[in-house]
Amino acid sequence: MHNFENNRKKQIYEVLSIVKLLSLFFCGIIFFSQYHSLIQNNNNMIFSELNIGTTLSFCIVLFLIYQIWIITSKKMSDSQNFKLTNALELIFFISLFSGLIILSGKHTSQYKFLFLFVIITSTIQFGKKLGLSIAVISSTIILVIDLMGMPLNEVNTFFEIDLVLVGIFLLTAWLLGDYVKVEAHYRKQILNLANIDELTGLYNHRYFQESLDKYIMEAKNSNQPVSLLFIDIDYFKNYNDLFGHIAGDKVLNEISNILKSLVKGIGIAARYGGEEFGIILPATSESEAIGVGEKIRNVIESKYFEGQENLPSGNLTISVGVSTFPHKAKSKKELLNSADDALYRAKFFNKNKVESYYSVLEELKQDIKEEHIDLISSIKTFISVINAKDRYTFGHTERVVIYCKLMADKLNLSEEDKRILKYGAYLHDIGKIQISKEILNKKMPLTNKEWEAIKHHPQNGVTIIKPVTSLEKVIPLILHHHERYDGKGYPDNLKGGNIPYLARILTLADSFDAMTSNRPYQPVKSYEEAIEELKMCSGSQFDPLLVEAFIEVINKNKDYLNSFRFKGSPT
Ligand code: GH3
Ligand code: MG
Ligand code: MG
Repeated sequence: MHNFENNRKKQIYEVLSIVKLLSLFFCGIIFFSQYHSLIQNNNNMIFSELNIGTTLSFCIVLFLIYQIWIITSKKMSDSQNFKLTNALELIFFISLFSGLIILSGKHTSQYKFLFLFVIITSTIQFGKKLGLSIAVISSTIILVIDLMGMPLNEVNTFFEIDLVLVGIFLLTAWLLGDYVKVEAHYRKQILNLANIDELTGLYNHRYFQESLDKYIMEAKNSNQPVSLLFIDIDYFKNYNDLFGHIAGDKVLNEISNILKSLVKGIGIAARYGGEEFGIILPATSESEAIGVGEKIRNVIESKYFEGQENLPSGNLTISVGVSTFPHKAKSKKELLNSADDALYRAKFFNKNKVESYYSVLEELKQDIKEEHIDLISSIKTFISVINAKDRYTFGHTERVVIYCKLMADKLNLSEEDKRILKYGAYLHDIGKIQISKEILNKKMPLTNKEWEAIKHHPQNGVTIIKPVTSLEKVIPLILHHHERYDGKGYPDNLKGGNIPYLARILTLADSFDAMTSNRPYQPVKSYEEAIEELKMCSGSQFDPLLVEAFIEVINKNKDYLNSFRFKGSPT
């Protein structure tokens, strides 16, 4: 729609420029005819040639000046000088027409109608008020010329005739002004119909996309950030199932009104999809955007929606994902994807949350050689595919990264080992890309064949990572994160100290998160229950020394981990 409006403006501007050029052309003819009569009166050949030349030069100079004027004013059309340019243009035309009228016989001139050009063009361009002002100025000039041209004691027939002309000037500006106003009003309504979502009154998906393009472009030019908030209503399917779609629509409406009022003046709110909303916040940093998201989340959490007590959480809430251009995303596509990623994370961490985008991958990219960057981008896609396939383990990777980070500090690992462990934690499940969604989410016990497919994911992961030579040291972690301390693990039945040290740490973090998060095949354990389980499996499944260290880490960071578990991960 922005293009549509811009094209319309451009076309009108072009038509008006042609009209103005034509009016200049007429001025040239009048100028020429005035000199022609002067020549006839003087009957002097030299004088005549000189003046034909002067007249033609006059026309050409006028034409050229105006061409330059059009080009410069077009360039300035977005700047603040635009008003000044237009004012100068109006003064120029009024002075030119007045001059020609004086030159062609003052009150007796036949060219007083010339003012119609400037009245019509200015009314179309700037509306009724300015059109009428120009009509009044033109009328005053004509009537003053009439009064000055004839002594007051004579009957001033020119003045009487010109009163009719003045009437025509005013009527033209009036009628045309009203027409322009009505047309603008209906155009605005049609544009609104095309841009506004009917149910909620928010901007629709198409307008959202167009605006995001526009704001990103502006952000690039002005070196300012743009933040994006994705909002999704929690358990909305349940709400619809309980109370029907009409009640659901009412909630959508109420939430939309809240969004409208909270982002007024700072951004635009749109209905992105069914019960998903997108908010664009230009010139807003990530932390400011998180603040806005928190405010919206808070208002909706505190508002009472009819029947909300019947929802699984006992309250109607929203989850919010935040990302920021260019800090967290380098393009529009990345901005949309990262805000969506953040939203999924917010959903995962028990919903009713605001989450900003965070990716270990971005850190990883900094350590990777230039030629492997493309591969890293495919890995990113793989991980998002795994996350999409495996709903239950969403956020698992990031939590395992956090556990490993804490362990790395506790064990005083070298900086290099810390990095290898972090990347291993991030990439350990990459081989799951080849396992089907059905197997990953299966609640029933797996068949032998399915179990074989699952057991093969460490090798698959290695195959994917192998081409990235700078990730060479991460391979043992991916390959051996399912080995057991007693040698009964897979794929190589490695035992005790033969299992790479970092892989043993990863196994602990991976298993602890599996115990304490939602899995299709087992109920969620509390931290205390999971710690008991670790103790039970110490020496059989896990390295006993590492179990001790891990339990210490968990106990020491319980508050931090709990806040991370339910409020989202730190960035
Ligand atoms: P989650 O907490 O994970 O977001 O779960 P959810 O139930 O909200 O699931 P999801 O986000 O996938 O919501 C999709 C539901 O939104 C499906 C449909 O019932 C509802 N929905 C989508 N569009 C409309 C609409 O225009 N009107 C109404 N009343 N409901 C809609
Ligand atoms: Mg949804
Ligand atoms: Mg939802």
